[in-house]
Amino acid sequence: MAIISSKPQPPEPDDLSQSELFSDGISKKPSGKRIPPNGKLPDLSNAKQPLLEPEAKPEERSQQEERLRPRRLSEYIGQKDLKEVLDIAIQAAKVRQETLDHLLLYGPPGLGKTTLSLILAEEMGVGCKMTTAPALERPRDIAGLLLGLQPGDVLFIDEIHRLPKVTEEILYAAMEDFRLDVTLGKGSSARTRSIPLKHFTLVGATTRVGALTSPLRDRFGLIQRLRFYEIDELLQIVLRTAGILKMAVSDEGATEIARRSRGTPRIANRLLKRVRDYVQVKELGNLTEAIAAEALERYNIDPLGLDWTDRRLLTVMIENFNGGPVGLETIAAATGEDAQTIEEVYEPYLLQIGYLNRTPRGRIATAAAWKHLGYTPPDSQLSIL
Ligand code: ADP
Repeated sequence: MAIISSKPQPPEPDDLSQSELFSDGISKKPSGKRIPPNGKLPDLSNAKQPLLEPEAKPEERSQQEERLRPRRLSEYIGQKDLKEVLDIAIQAAKVRQETLDHLLLYGPPGLGKTTLSLILAEEMGVGCKMTTAPALERPRDIAGLLLGLQPGDVLFIDEIHRLPKVTEEILYAAMEDFRLDVTLGKGSSARTRSIPLKHFTLVGATTRVGALTSPLRDRFGLIQRLRFYEIDELLQIVLRTAGILKMAVSDEGATEIARRSRGTPRIANRLLKRVRDYVQVKELGNLTEAIAAEALERYNIDPLGLDWTDRRLLTVMIENFNGGPVGLETIAAATGEDAQTIEEVYEPYLLQIGYLNRTPRGRIATAAAWKHLGYTPPDSQLSIL
């Protein structure tokens, strides 16, 4: 597998200013159990913690982390319908000795799109080349990749909605006719040459399927959505990862981590590792439910998996805008968060658990969100629901 480039990282949070803002923002929230600083672990109770950001961190792209990825479809937990669709596609392609159809996977980060693409290559017995759309700035970037593919290879392009137009246009002929059209020369002497390509499967991943142009979307034979994972699926993922990491963890302890993982395997694995640190530093032994809860409280992750930013977004909506409706850009300006990050990273889970509604007039914090943060929802808010 060749990893060509990696995802750009979100900026580091400005801890001081945001923790100040937050301590105001949660003043009405009933305070959960706080563990006093012990001198070894930092006091994280009021700090913004990026633990729940579903994007991969640089250290999570290391070889050690790659160990955690399931390698075969049978090891891939959850996403039952999607797995069935892919299983049939794989079997049919193998019988016909063809390459798999081009596949577009969409859904929030951390749900297993990259993992699935590697699994597809493994199941088909072919190689997988990985890249990300922003790395394909110039025509020669994509041309080099396409020319380097072996027959049947999977080409994985992450964040495919961010492809530059010129690269996207090269992909059209490559996807449809396995042909690379290159223009030689300039001006009136310019001519186009077509170079045949090996048949390959393009797997595109995106968090914003609506941002894809229709000519690109139409060239995918399969378009599949990944959904958030249920607690019992995340439990299996935590237990599997604990097994790989050789950690002793009770089912109850693993369930507590699963509950706080926002339906996202990447977050489940990350929380498990932070809890492991906590158990180790405090010399606590077996990971029980109480210890998992204590450790995650320490990292300021609440029982529903909401973190600093989620609570801040909801708190600002409630305190400054009486729960909404309020526009995305206004929320972004009031919280200092990036509108796109709010929309792609934070909102999907808040919508999923029913804490946020999207309406034509803007976002609304639901009565459940008011209550979760320790506020009494106004009658108007109750009547909307
Ligand atoms: P995405 O590409 O959607 O951002 P990844 O495929 O990189 O997400 O998955 C993030 C991590 O979560 C992987 O390293 C893998 O260990 C774990 N993971 C994802 N999906 C599953 C799954 N269905 N079963 C087990 N682990 C999973």
